[in-house]
Amino acid sequence: MTSVWGVGEERAKLLARLEIFTVEDLLLHKPRRYEDRRKFLPIRDLKLKEAATVRGTIIASGVKRWKGGARAMFECVFDDGSAHLHCRWWQAQPWMADWFAVGREFLVFGKPESLRPRTIDHPETEPVEADDDEFIHVNRIVPIHPLTDGLTARVMRTLIWRALEKFENEIAEPQFGFGVPPLGGPGESRKEPHKGGTPNLPSRANAIRMIHFPEELADVEFARQRLALDEFVELQFQIQSRRKKFEALAKALPCGGDNRLMKSFLTQLGFKLTAAQTNVLREIRADMGGVHPMRRLLQGDVGSGKTAVAACSALMALESGFNVALMAPTEILAEQHFRNFTKWFEPLGVKVELQTGSRKTSNIQHPTSNIEGSRAASRITHHASLFIGTNALFTAGFDLPKLGLVIIDEQHKFGVVQRETLVRKGNYPHLLVMTATPIPRTLGLTLYGDLDVSVIDELPGGRGKIKTFVRAADKLPKVWEFIREKISGGRQAYIVYPRVEATASDIKAVTKEFENVQRALAPFKVGLLHGRMKSAEKENVMTAFRSNEIKAVVATSLIEVGVDVPNASVMLIENAERFGLAQLHQLRGRIGRGAHESFCILISDVLKEDAQSRLKILEETNDGFKIAEVDLKLRGPGELLGQEQSGAMKLRFGDLSEDLNLIRQARELVRQNLQLDFSRTGVS
Ligand code: ADP
Ligand code: MG
Repeated sequence: MTSVWGVGEERAKLLARLEIFTVEDLLLHKPRRYEDRRKFLPIRDLKLKEAATVRGTIIASGVKRWKGGARAMFECVFDDGSAHLHCRWWQAQPWMADWFAVGREFLVFGKPESLRPRTIDHPETEPVEADDDEFIHVNRIVPIHPLTDGLTARVMRTLIWRALEKFENEIAEPQFGFGVPPLGGPGESRKEPHKGGTPNLPSRANAIRMIHFPEELADVEFARQRLALDEFVELQFQIQSRRKKFEALAKALPCGGDNRLMKSFLTQLGFKLTAAQTNVLREIRADMGGVHPMRRLLQGDVGSGKTAVAACSALMALESGFNVALMAPTEILAEQHFRNFTKWFEPLGVKVELQTGSRKTSNIQHPTSNIEGSRAASRITHHASLFIGTNALFTAGFDLPKLGLVIIDEQHKFGVVQRETLVRKGNYPHLLVMTATPIPRTLGLTLYGDLDVSVIDELPGGRGKIKTFVRAADKLPKVWEFIREKISGGRQAYIVYPRVEATASDIKAVTKEFENVQRALAPFKVGLLHGRMKSAEKENVMTAFRSNEIKAVVATSLIEVGVDVPNASVMLIENAERFGLAQLHQLRGRIGRGAHESFCILISDVLKEDAQSRLKILEETNDGFKIAEVDLKLRGPGELLGQEQSGAMKLRFGDLSEDLNLIRQARELVRQNLQLDFSRTGVS
């Protein structure tokens, strides 16, 4: 890094704070905004609360006492010949008097707080120097980069300018930038930014210059797209070569099944599969009977019936004589699956085992409870079994022979890496990952780009509607009354608090809320669920809730995934603004599972406009995809998918909420290239 002009050890340290370690990092340091300094707004024309840049000379400056002398404020007055501008810093710093000396000329950026007199508080300022670099900092559109203490905008801009001068000719088209057209000069390439259709993007070197020193503001988006495309190409290359390599190595186990278990399963299931479920199963059967091991992501909104699809897929492998593993992210969910699958599969003569951190049924003979069941048990002819568990299932010692299929439920709780290690344990079994978090297309093609995607886009019929309301906390008494009414009518309720449960004080807070809820709902019985409870305790509460002995559970977001109690039709979520929209949607998917009309009440006292309007989206729509798109825009992929997964994606220019077209283009470029010549790519 010290090979760049002006970067000594001290500055290298400052740059490192911004994660700039190499010349490339420096060149890719994306400006956070731009200022058009070709002509300046006269101070006279400043408008209230409208950000603008002006250029003026200091005619007065000094420290003022603020509020009766308690605080020292620094103020200086700029003049550009049209009017005066007062700038104030509420904490005077010792260096200010020298720096903002009368006679110095500055560029001042900010939003006027008042116009009488014209005043900007805490503006961004930059001195105008009459030195050689004048043309970098004024008379053009200039970038304002993210900075750190001790590194000014001016210095950063100069560093980047110098680095560009010195290294621009060495910026190569990226190794995988094959076929990214064209290399035209800036004049030729400056067209409309890409909005679908074929883009005509600048070369990488041009794009890097344009992102810092654009001739027109429209160039910026154009350059960003080029650099984003490079990022997506690299990402797609990783994804697709991994997949390609996998396909070359891994042979599929024949798990297509022969329907003999499936038939009786479907007749005893009690409902008919939806068309969407049937379609997905057709895709899965084709995969499991195919040449390459299945790598499929199954997306379906909460309540769309993914479990039944998982069951049918499992039966295909079991029919073919292979074992199946089903993995859930929480013990509660693993227990629930264990109960369902035991009920479904034992009559078919298939053994179901459970293995979680706290419970293990392996080597235990399951008592078969009814006559039909024991008759079935005596006919056991399939030696293949279904193993259900949390990740404990896959930790040390677990090594299933003849593992034909791995199903991961609620995928977003597992990291990508975890997903990979899982599959390696078995000898490339088929893989089905299921998620209720609707994944916007952009993420589907990047984060999950190595998986084929199936979507269940239909909910089973005969469900009650979910009505959602956003309310302030002062409406709580009425809400409690409403919930009591529903419980009297035979229904059950979830009461959810947003605790991270990282600390003992979180648990204390939830326990205290629990007492309040018990009081509010007395004499109805209320249970408590949180992450620090022992699994047996949790399971007891869930059992009592399922059997309608407990009328309401107070829970942290623990219940988010998978819990299925159709009689529960009311959900109250406190401090709802603390959750992401997708997460709230997941939570409310716990209700509306039976025939009863269901109610989700979101309590939020945050009056901030955007917090409220964000929550209102849930009042308006029940469409998980729409909600996920909004969430992606507002909170980024990390919030949607969990930190672990988003960590893998460091995009400087690419925007997962906007760039679907670029992602598609990158995918296609890589696909064509890999097809042509995979062996040369050197990925091992
Ligand atoms: P999710 O996709 O959220 O995992 P589940 O698999 O838990 O959803 O299914 C939700 C509920 O819908 C369950 O009670 C399940 O038995 C029921 N269900 C699933 N498929 C159908 C169907 N085709 N018709 C009616 N009910 C169904
Ligand atoms: Mg589920």
